[in-house]
Amino acid sequence: MSSASASAQADRAEPSPAAQPPSGYRLFDLRVKRRLPITPSLLRLVFTGADVAQMNTLAPDQRVKLLFPAADGSLPAFDNRLHWNDARRQLPLDQRPPMRTYTIRALRRDAAEVDVDFVLHGINGPASAWATHATEGDRVQMVAPNLAFAGDPGGYEWKPPQGLQRLLLVGDETALPAIAGILQQLAEQASQARVQAFIEVPLLADCLELARPAHTELHWLAREQLRSEHGQAMLEAVREQAWLPTAAASAAGELDELNIDEDILWEQASGEGGEFHAWIAGESSTVMTLRRWLIQERGLDRRTLSLMGYWRAGRSLD
Ligand SMILES: Cc1cc2nc3c(=O)[nH]c(=O)nc-3n(C[C@H](O)[C@H](O)[C@H](O)COP(=O)(O)OP(=O)(O)OC[C@H]3O[C@@H](n4cnc5c(N)ncnc54)[C@H](O)[C@@H]3O)c2cc1C
Repeated sequence: MSSASASAQADRAEPSPAAQPPSGYRLFDLRVKRRLPITPSLLRLVFTGADVAQMNTLAPDQRVKLLFPAADGSLPAFDNRLHWNDARRQLPLDQRPPMRTYTIRALRRDAAEVDVDFVLHGINGPASAWATHATEGDRVQMVAPNLAFAGDPGGYEWKPPQGLQRLLLVGDETALPAIAGILQQLAEQASQARVQAFIEVPLLADCLELARPAHTELHWLAREQLRSEHGQAMLEAVREQAWLPTAAASAAGELDELNIDEDILWEQASGEGGEFHAWIAGESSTVMTLRRWLIQERGLDRRTLSLMGYWRAGRSLD
């Protein structure tokens, strides 16, 4: 075979990148458009970018990856013919941008704007450090759902059962963006479910006015006011005040242990098991303790629980 015909055959065998079907998630180049302090501990950054109209979000807890620039503000030029993660992995370790997981708080495709709420926990991690100093025009990259993708790209866990009647929402400040979005969505749907939300935050001034459905009992737990350690107020409030399905108390469940220093605690409700649903996220050891209490001591049906370790005290989760 001549080299010309071999190359023609290779061209036919390998479709050009443009012909690849769109992937579920893709990379977006963004810059900060506005900086809106929400509370002392929570900063909203409104991002914009040429392609934001091509971004998608499927649920109020839609997670995305943010890739942060080097100290000089530069970001690597990825080979956009590759899947974003392969392109990132091709970079030498010392050139890979740090990557962290965040929640889309709002997406306004018409205005080409996407909001992310950052907990400012200091300058000990690349994400919080970057957000602390971010000003208008600063660049960042986001891996987010692609509107052109026809299927379900995943990356969200808010899947309440049909006919939801009782909802338990529990989270610390990192889960506040998702919980605020869930409550807002239920309010817009005029949900008649009975909702109990426990949100732990650092300061009294971090307690916000949140849009919420009619039958909501909202508990703000400010560590400053309660003089409590991280996670303690959340655990105590749930143990003492959560409404749980009455049948649960009799049926203590078997429970496998997880090593949260090795694995990420991530368990999903199946949407079966009744009209009760719990969505719980925050620091892994706190969520782990709640998991043990809800399943082993209160005998809750695991199919009704979504349990997510959003971060781990003392560790960086890239
Ligand atoms: C699905 C998902 C959605 C998330 N959504 C959001 C969101 O919308 N907003 C948000 O702010 N966070 C969110 N998080 C949590 C966020 O990814 C972590 O807090 C992340 O560790 C922050 O990265 P960093 O670079 O600031 O710190 P890292 O480099 O990861 O950690 C540095 C140090 O800071 C500690 N640390 C990390 N986060 C906190 C914190 N919040 N408070 C105190 N100490 C901390 C670590 O334990 C470590 O010791 C989400 C996580 C997941 C998994």
